[in-house]
Amino acid sequence: MEETYCTKTIILNRTDFREYDSRTTVYSLDKGKLELVARGVKKIKSKLAAHLEPFNLAEIMVVRGRKFDYIGAAASRKCFPNIKGDLEKLAAAGKAVNVFNKLVKAEEADKGTFSLLEEFLGSLDSRELKIGHDLWAGFFTLKLMAQLGYKPELYNCVACNKKITSGENLFDLSRGGLMGGECLNKKGNGALVISDNGVKLLRAIIDNNFTKLKNFKISVKLEEEVKTIISSFCQYHI
Ligand SMILES: [Zn+2]
Repeated sequence: MEETYCTKTIILNRTDFREYDSRTTVYSLDKGKLELVARGVKKIKSKLAAHLEPFNLAEIMVVRGRKFDYIGAAASRKCFPNIKGDLEKLAAAGKAVNVFNKLVKAEEADKGTFSLLEEFLGSLDSRELKIGHDLWAGFFTLKLMAQLGYKPELYNCVACNKKITSGENLFDLSRGGLMGGECLNKKGNGALVISDNGVKLLRAIIDNNFTKLKNFKISVKLEEEVKTIISSFCQYHI
């Protein structure tokens, strides 16, 4: 008898594989990130295909194979239709999932990481989301990094450990956190100027869930500043 198991997953990516099959990357609640083969999904009559669209939350049955593990059956539970019907939301989800795929290692399950991705997709799907979607993906990136152990130091100077006060501060990419004005001469290559509001927003992103963050009012200037810091910090670790 073939060995099978069922697990809740979020579909991360699907690429063509052989004539009718696809290679599907999923993040599963029980086993973490998995690469699975979905047979026949490119055939018109495929019952699996619709359930395995990227960003879907789906229950799947995995069949262990000698060379690959297969998706034997799938049933989608959440399809996030507003993401799929909006190019801007779709781009933000794509960006976030791409970062997720790069930062999350294979076969390391973590409930907190699973919830974070599910909550991000759910909030992005909401029609009430007023914050720029690209920035929203940035919020997810920073929260994901904190969840995975790359939490930036946002309270004490990464060079001298003194408490960060308002005024002249930097975000040092290589040391992974804030650097106070007294240490500006010690900065490495990758250090970005950060405003007081930028510091407050980074702290708030880590401390609050998506439901709370949804109500934040953020100026265009602050949005650009924080987006640049988060994406630079993320690039540094990828
Ligand atoms: Zn310092």
